[in-house]
Amino acid sequence: MTLPILDLTRSFKDIKPEVFKALERIFDAQSFILGKDVSDFENHCEKYLELPEGSAVGCASGTDALLLALMACDVHEGDEVLTTPFTFFATAGAVARLGATPVFVDVDPVTYNINLDEALNKITSKTKIFLPVHLFGQMVPLEKVLDEFNSRGIKIIEDTAQAFGACRFLDKKILRAGTVGAVGCYSFFPTKNLGGCGDAGMVVARDSKLAERLKKLRVHGSGATYYHEEVGINSRLDAIQAAILNIKLPHLDSWIEQRRNAADYYKLLFKTNNLQEFITPPAELEGNQHTYHQYVIRVKDKRDELMNYLNENGFGVRIYYPLSLHLQPCFKYLGYKEGDFPVSEKLTREVLALPIFPGLEEKEQEALVEKISEFFNK
Ligand SMILES: *Cc1c(COP(=O)(O)O)cnc(C)c1O
Repeated sequence: MTLPILDLTRSFKDIKPEVFKALERIFDAQSFILGKDVSDFENHCEKYLELPEGSAVGCASGTDALLLALMACDVHEGDEVLTTPFTFFATAGAVARLGATPVFVDVDPVTYNINLDEALNKITSKTKIFLPVHLFGQMVPLEKVLDEFNSRGIKIIEDTAQAFGACRFLDKKILRAGTVGAVGCYSFFPTKNLGGCGDAGMVVARDSKLAERLKKLRVHGSGATYYHEEVGINSRLDAIQAAILNIKLPHLDSWIEQRRNAADYYKLLFKTNNLQEFITPPAELEGNQHTYHQYVIRVKDKRDELMNYLNENGFGVRIYYPLSLHLQPCFKYLGYKEGDFPVSEKLTREVLALPIFPGLEEKEQEALVEKISEFFNK
């Protein structure tokens, strides 16, 4: 048996005829940039995320979503942005692209998400933005720090690239990932919870002025065509991506449900195979609806040997992420050194992502866990 880390062909089968029909319609019309498919998708996302009309702005990628959000919050050289070193590069890359300074904060060893107490301790007079990442599909409990940041005039930009559809259940309220802070940034890269057929992204802002500004920034800062109020970028969502995302969005909840079921099953299999002493499964924080964009375990010993053994036996497993961002060569100028973020560094040595995607079969999970047992009992 071979099992890839991700197999998108399984969920595509159900929607193939609809997708091809939409493609034909768009090619016949020869209208590719923005337009009705995009505004429909923005409206559908507003409904799904329970946001006011006009708050969703489609753009070209998750990376651009971060860049646009930072630009709309007037982030410039000299500003500090508090963020996590245990994330995909784009989070801190977008900050550095604008000449601002990423200030890293270590992560929580249980959820792998940014440590909120440490973040509050790192606030300085230069802190402009708090940029948490809802890593691997699980939300940061932002309600705990919302007032503290707001009262200091620090805006929250949520990197929600991995967590479209994630939420937190509070007493009388549901918080949806990307809608708690000032701006939420989403990626529809093909491998994400909701993925297009190429690069695509979205920014959302409840504040209508901020949303309007984001809309201008994605078309070179122009309100009326050829009149530019500020310098923006070219970052539009195209009709083909939007049409496909419109077809996929109604399936998202059932796909997340399948991911959650697969996560439960892995946990059960680790238990029945007595693997608890070797493996720590991902933890779901109380109140959270984890979407398991990635299913990332921790392996105390011999992580690399286990990865190689599984790969050699046809099981796709991978390391997200092998190097903490504060140790990346391009961030040398920030002056961090090994040992500065011990939790993040430890995770880079222990984490291993297992296959998880809609359509993953129980017998495939059983075969994988059997191989893991075989490795540890050798
Ligand atoms: C994927 C990802 C991004 C970037 O999204 P793209 O659409 O690939 O540009 C940003 N942040 C995180 C945490 C991601 O996983």
